[in-house]
Amino acid sequence: MYKEILSDRMENQNQVLEQLRSVFRSGITIPAQFRLSQLNQLMSMIQENEEVILKALHQDLAKPKFEAIMSEVDIVVNELHFAIANFTSWMQPEYVSKNLATKLDDCFVRREPLGVVLIIGPWNYPLHLLLLPLVSAIAAGNCAVIKPSEVSAHTDRLMAELIPKYLSQECYTVVRGGAEETTSLLQLRFDHIFYTGSQAVARIVMRAASVHLTPVTLELGGKCPCFIYGRVDIAAAARRLVWSKYFNAGQSCVAPDYVLCSPATRDALLPALRQTLEQFYGKEPQKSPDMSRIVSDRHWTRLMELLKKTSGKVVVGGESDQEDKYIAPTVLVDVNEDDALMAEEIFGPILPILTVESVEEGIDLMNRQEKPLALYVFSDEASVVNTVLERTSSGGFCSNDGIIHMCLPTLPFGGVGTSGFGSYHGRWGFETFSHRRAVMLRGWALERLNGLRYPPYQENKLSW
Ligand code: NAD
Repeated sequence: MYKEILSDRMENQNQVLEQLRSVFRSGITIPAQFRLSQLNQLMSMIQENEEVILKALHQDLAKPKFEAIMSEVDIVVNELHFAIANFTSWMQPEYVSKNLATKLDDCFVRREPLGVVLIIGPWNYPLHLLLLPLVSAIAAGNCAVIKPSEVSAHTDRLMAELIPKYLSQECYTVVRGGAEETTSLLQLRFDHIFYTGSQAVARIVMRAASVHLTPVTLELGGKCPCFIYGRVDIAAAARRLVWSKYFNAGQSCVAPDYVLCSPATRDALLPALRQTLEQFYGKEPQKSPDMSRIVSDRHWTRLMELLKKTSGKVVVGGESDQEDKYIAPTVLVDVNEDDALMAEEIFGPILPILTVESVEEGIDLMNRQEKPLALYVFSDEASVVNTVLERTSSGGFCSNDGIIHMCLPTLPFGGVGTSGFGSYHGRWGFETFSHRRAVMLRGWALERLNGLRYPPYQENKLSW
């Protein structure tokens, strides 16, 4: 029975894919005018439905309106503006330098769409992380299957309702579902898979993609350190750290995962963190409209298990309410490198502070971890910032702030090592969804010179 359901589902999905493929082959997505109309339609979709989008995000994660506008709606609108203003120039052939043998040829790189791409989104920024890659895919002239996360169920439903109303149904299809539906989708042959989510599922995606040799972009997570060292404005550091850590209740792939600092900095930071948390969320953060909730009971339980297993000491927060999927903004000290909190990405409002005695020790500790998606250094001393920048590796790097580097569409956004590979945003996303075709247009001139490379070969031809 189960096998039958699976094969029926695959059959349906395959039909959808074949229709998209034949529409892609018709060339409808190629003209700039078509791409522009779809980007404008996506803009209208966001702008005309902002209220319902904000409502769905609130139902899924209790996202505060301000955070939802900033990190979901506006970021998509900005990406759209940027793509609309620039994609025709990105489409232009890129002429390359030539050598003597190709002097008379036209040699250029031509960006061509890949075909039908699959975009799989996560639940933590269910609008942003689904639509940003879609903007790039459309700008680059592809057709797409879009799979929102079933965990953020309200946004998932809304996307399935809105996208077909605004975008060409011939070219873009939303497929809904969880692991089962995605598993059968992944058996089909796409021209590219763009996956955002956990490392565990990324392995499944990559294995499935290998069957068809489908290229993949993997936008994953990791443990993003925040190294605080030397001269620092502690009050400002606490505000920027608290904001970037507890934004969306810590459920951001680029949230600072842990703090590394000297014992003296920790002692100065703790009262500043307490004070900032109270300023931001009041004495009872559970009552604050600015504190999101954990997305699901499963994730709430996972985070509470981590708090049970840790040998660290809770010095701020620690309260929780399962019914409300609430965990207070929490800070822990006395956390060691082999603690449960250091074994996986936390992805919640829990911040361990680890101490080190020197920049060297901090760099060594960060380098013993897998390469993170982002690495933050808070310091007034350029030598500290530059030393860490030079001696570590991460998807992105930002000094004296958190998260904010990912809002600039001229910077690539993506991981390295286990935090993922490939990148997007702005032109980087256009490149991800384009094939760079090497083109040499040659005429028939100088045929006599070609005699030098035709057989019969003679030694003296080599010295030419
Ligand atoms: P997830 O991997 O559980 O889910 C992501 C997507 O995969 C969903 O659409 C889901 O339906 C699908 N999926 C789940 N199980 C599957 C299976 N067995 N087979 C096939 N598909 C399956 O990830 P998540 O929990 O939604 O997201 C959290 C993780 O994503 C964190 O590790 C976070 O760091 C990472 N993340 C990374 C970025 C980034 O831009 N690099 C952004 C957000 C989240």
